[in-house]
Amino acid sequence: YGDFNQKIDYVFKVVLIGDSAVGKSQLLARFARNEFSLDSKATIGVEFQTKTLSIDNKTVKAQIWDTAGQERYRAVTSAYYRGAVGAMLVYDMTKRQSFDHMAKWLEELRGHADKNIVIMLIGNKSDLGSLRAVPTEDAQEFAQRENLFFMETSALEATNVETAFFTVLTEIYRIIS
Ligand code: GDP
Ligand code: MG
Repeated sequence: YGDFNQKIDYVFKVVLIGDSAVGKSQLLARFARNEFSLDSKATIGVEFQTKTLSIDNKTVKAQIWDTAGQERYRAVTSAYYRGAVGAMLVYDMTKRQSFDHMAKWLEELRGHADKNIVIMLIGNKSDLGSLRAVPTEDAQEFAQRENLFFMETSALEATNVETAFFTVLTEIYRIIS
């Protein structure tokens, strides 16, 4: 029998943050399992999911943490951020308020996380283009000012989801290797 155990070179913890209902859990479902659900209940209890991928011939296990509904109560704890090397800061491009809250989430993140954390700003639900409430330029400007990566995604249509996670994971790899 051969050894089928995969050797893991790196484990990268990445946290999802942002208001409730912006699509964090569906982005994770899309990335980790290529699944999507239109009537996803508020996340309960799930801590993280993993996906193993290859970067530069190294095996990287991405451990993606989801907020388990705590976003409603501003109760994301420091344990959630501890050890995170990447963060996805998610708003719903059809909900202006969820974008306006990004500054607060970023402040919270920067207060808890490592200095070198790689952050991606994500405008999700790009499939609902006719309902857009956040111009791409506004988000680009914010991302540039705050030194964040930025991408618009659709968990529903699987647009840019892999690219967004892969960009963050590759940048983390670049920094630590
Ligand atoms: P969370 O509270 O941030 O985890 O948000 P969820 O992942 O639970 O998604 C909230 C709602 O938005 C659910 O009804 C999802 O099906 C829906 N949703 C998530 N992503 C998308 C997307 O890319 N496009 C559309 N149209 N709906 C989405
Ligand atoms: Mg959720």
